[in-house]
Amino acid sequence: MIMFIIGLTGGIASGKSTVAKMLVEKGACLIDADRLAREVVEPGRPAWRDIVEWLGDAILLPDRNLDRARLAEIVFNDRSKLEKLNRIVHPRVGERFGALTEEIKKRDPDAVVVYDIPLLIEAGMQKIVDLVLLVYVTPEIQASRLQQRDGISRAAAEARIKAQKPLEEKKELADVIIDNSGAEAETARQVDRFWQNLKKEKGLE
Ligand code: ADP
Repeated sequence: MIMFIIGLTGGIASGKSTVAKMLVEKGACLIDADRLAREVVEPGRPAWRDIVEWLGDAILLPDRNLDRARLAEIVFNDRSKLEKLNRIVHPRVGERFGALTEEIKKRDPDAVVVYDIPLLIEAGMQKIVDLVLLVYVTPEIQASRLQQRDGISRAAAEARIKAQKPLEEKKELADVIIDNSGAEAETARQVDRFWQNLKKEKGLE
């Protein structure tokens, strides 16, 4: 038995956090890429220093945190700047993934670890995980859940969804698909089945 790494992915508001929580309840350890991406740019951290060195103090709010809205405006209008930001942030996130995975391994060499990485497939990171688990929903349900969760208009929700690779296309690149279009209880049943199979196949527990 050895550590097993699940790459959990999906689209915006497809239910990744919901499924991650269910897997944690089963005993999996979670590492959340979005959370690490926020941590590595906290004031004083190396990625924060690199960004301030690059864009100057104008990119900071009065409390020294990055002005995320301003940063988004800068990079989303200029591909080379987006690439530069990624070159600053991604390696630090990668290091944190590595360090946290090592910590988990020390505590429990047989742990099942869930990497929650929204853009796993876009980033071509399938190789760093043992299995790609996709949380799918129909586009209509995705839009209404996003609209409700973030309190935005239907048009804004649809625009955000359209900016991502369609979940239909991601399905082809996934090893396992959880369809979260139904009630949470139905999703929980699929997670249950997945977990039972994983344990059987890997001889876990
Ligand atoms: P993600 O992490 O992929 O962005 P979330 O897990 O936050 O998505 O789910 C998006 C929204 O939809 C949340 O408000 C969540 O509570 C809700 N939600 C998720 N799954 C279901 C479901 N099966 N039925 C109803 N609402 C759901």
